[in-house]
Formats: sequence, structure tokens, C-alpha cells
Amino acid sequence: MRWLSTRGAAPPASFIDALFSGAAPDGGLYLPERLDPLPPARVRELTGFTAAEIGAVVGAQLLDGDISPEELSALVSDALNFPIPLVQVTDRAWALELFHGPTLAFKDVGARVQARLLHHFTDGTPLTILVATSGDTGSAVAQAFHGVPDTRVVVLYPRGQVSDVQEAQMASLGGNILAVAVDGTFDDCQRLVKQAFADDQLRTHVWLTPANSINVGRLLPQVFYHFIPGRIPDAIVSVPSGNFGNLTAGLIARRLGVPVSRFIAATNVNDVVPEYLRTGRYEPRASVRTVANAMDVGAPNNFERMQTLYGGDIEALRRDVSGAAYDDARVVAEISRVYRQHGYLLDPHGAIAWLGLQDALAQAPDAKGVFLATAHPAKFREVVEPAIGRTVPLPDVLEEALARPRISRNLAASYPDLESLLREF
Ligand SMILES: *Cc1c(COP(=O)(O)O)cnc(C)c1O
Repeated sequence: MRWLSTRGAAPPASFIDALFSGAAPDGGLYLPERLDPLPPARVRELTGFTAAEIGAVVGAQLLDGDISPEELSALVSDALNFPIPLVQVTDRAWALELFHGPTLAFKDVGARVQARLLHHFTDGTPLTILVATSGDTGSAVAQAFHGVPDTRVVVLYPRGQVSDVQEAQMASLGGNILAVAVDGTFDDCQRLVKQAFADDQLRTHVWLTPANSINVGRLLPQVFYHFIPGRIPDAIVSVPSGNFGNLTAGLIARRLGVPVSRFIAATNVNDVVPEYLRTGRYEPRASVRTVANAMDVGAPNNFERMQTLYGGDIEALRRDVSGAAYDDARVVAEISRVYRQHGYLLDPHGAIAWLGLQDALAQAPDAKGVFLATAHPAKFREVVEPAIGRTVPLPDVLEEALARPRISRNLAASYPDLESLLREF
């Protein structure tokens, strides 16, 4: 299988090349050259499988030739060693809980598979994954690569500007994970990372790889769990979206035959995609801070993939995807209401997906639906606890991370300092 750039001006790449390069040389993003639907009986069977089992089959189809089915199967079952349950909340709505991995957010799915794929294809040459984070991505990437041989992760975060839990998840691991607290903002961290990737001199000494969300190694495994809502045939599937990697994976799964009637692109007030679906105009803008901060994205990087999957035809996209956006007050009120009325505790991101689904179901009285719950409510205690008027116990993995000593390095927001740190190993 070859992978093609969304901009069409780069040569086709193998999965392996796409995995190590991130973006295509023309600045576009990679998508599989073909998305052949599986036979309906096969899809029905797959929907009853675990995400790892689905991955062994669907991954083999998308990667054919690049890795043996046995190796792929072992790799995904090692990566996806946590449950992804489909939990019924009302007579018409189910939660697909993607937050049972080590950092309690759905980014574990992508990051853990990506880590193992990178390691699988490196042949023992030491690899440095360099990443800037405002919190969630860094902790998922750090956890995902922890203990993976011949790799090390250098994660840059703005000192004093990530949550206690997030810092504990990155900075308490040690081993092959180096957490670096930068004296500066998230933008400074991103700038330093960009400078390192642009430094050809450095890159002759250190094999640097990005771990950002556009990477095919993260997109691929997100396709797997999108088969699970197929257990409820022709469900409406609501996806809480920021960079739209999760929704893009859903659109790919649908092409492969998963019987989803349509998707809801549910956002917070950073609603450039819902606005595009409504007006036909795509106007990226600076992001606004919200209670669902993992979705605070003003220029979603996977929009380009969505466009390409629909050949730029907005009418076709509108048939499959509707937009919905909610402000913080609505989100907090809904967390409280759903807890009281249904005994189900939503986190702010899942709450946005729930709201999108409820509004869609109100328009389609015979329909059923699935919303994607992307973070454990305990990760957003500061929002959830006041909404429900009680404390939310911390899961063991968070308690353990908070109890471990922090081992982070301080760094001035200066490129020469980062460069010598990267050369040190
Ligand atoms: C990253 C993230 C999202 C948004 O996913 P995208 O693929 O960027 O749209 C939603 N919820 C949580 C908890 C996240 O961490």
C-alpha cells in the first residue's frame, strides 16, 4: 500500500517513510492510496472484536507488505492492552470509553501504537523523539515510549504551566524519558522543537523523529476502535474534536465499511469546522481557552485530510458530517445534569460529544448513537467536581504518578542550550 500526500505534489511514500517523516515533503499529510471496503459480514464480525484484534486485521489491510500479520498482531496487542468498552448510558446513547489507557486519555491509543511501530522499523539505531507539549500529548507520548528499547523521548513543556497530574505523568518516569521544563511558554517550546528539526548539523548526529498528531502511526490505530460503534448498526457517532485526527480516522473506518449513518463534529467554541460546514468558509483563527482544553485548536491540522477524503466537495462532506459547538457554561451544566439524571460522569470533552449526539438524536427520533468519551473525568477534576458537587476519586495510575518523585531538567528558552542537551546522550 502506498500513502499519498493530500497536496498531491510529493511522490507516493511507503508507510515506513510516512511514519518517520511526519508531514509529506510538499507540506501535505499522508493518506492511504486506496480504502477498499471489507465485506459486510467481515465488518460485522470485526465489530465484536477488541481494538487490538481489529487492529491485527484492519492494520494488515492498510499496511499490506510492510509488516507481517503476526508481527503486527503482537505489536498492537502489546500497545492496546487496556479495555475500550462500549457503555450504554440511555436507551439510545452509548459511550465508547477511550480513556482506560495509562494516561487516561484517548491519545494513549495513537501514541502507544506509534511508539511500537517506530521501534519495530528502526533496526536498533537509537532514535530521539522530540516533542513540545502543553500537557496531554507529552504525557501520552512519554508514557507510550517508556521502556521501549533504542528510543528516548525529550519532552519540552512550559515550566509551571501544565497541571500537576500532567507534569507527574511526564516527569516521574525516568529511564528513556527526559522531561524538560522550559523557562517560557508553550510557543517557546514549539519554536525550540522546530529549530532542532531544521538543524541539519544536529541531525547528522542525532536521529530525530517528531511525534505529533498528524503522524500516520497515530492516525492508523484510531481507525481500529471506530469499528466498535458498528455494533449498533447505522448509529450516529459524535466525536469531540480539536485537531480532527479522531474524526478523520472515523471517516476512514466508514470507507472501510463500518455502518455509521453519519458523524457529528462536536467542538467547543473553537468551532472553525462546524462553521465551515454551516457557511462553506474555512477561516482558521487563534484558539480560545476552554474547559475542554485538549480541543482548543483554531487551525485543525487534519482538516486537510477531511477535505481530501471528500475531494473538496463540501456537499458530500455535509452528507456524512454535521457540526455542533458548545460553550463552557453549557458543558458544565450538562456534566451536572447527566450525572444527576443518568448517573454517568462525563469529562468536559466527552460532554461535548454527548451534547452533539443528544442534539442529533432529538432531530432523528428513531436513531441511536455513540459518543466518544476521550478523557477520564478525574483528569479534569477542577471542572467536574464543582459541577457535580462532590469529589472524584483519582484512579490508581494517577495516584501512583503523583506519588513518584519528579525528575525534570530545567532549560532556558534558548536553542543552543537545547542543542547541547540533545547531543549529550
Ligand atoms: C486530543 C483530544 C481530543 C481531540 O482529538 P482530535 O483528534 O485532536 O480532534 C479530544 N479529547 C481529548 C481528551 C483529547 O486529548
